[in-house]
Amino acid sequence: MLMDESRKQKLPFNTPSQWYKYRCISCVYETQVEDIVVDAYFFSQGCKKGVYPTLTCPKCNEVMKYVDE
Ligand SMILES: [Zn+2]
Repeated sequence: MLMDESRKQKLPFNTPSQWYKYRCISCVYETQVEDIVVDAYFFSQGCKKGVYPTLTCPKCNEVMKYVDE
């Protein structure tokens, strides 16, 4: 069921998560990362606004970077 905009604003907790695509620089493994996870890394890495944090690849422990599509 789709909600209209006015109803969405009254129910902030029902706002769907945003997902970010990340790709490993080594094994090119790709995954979708939820916004709350990216936010947590953003603050822990002290990133500047507009800069995406890097994650660790679960396959090879190399660096995963945000893929802008
Ligand atoms: Zn990897």
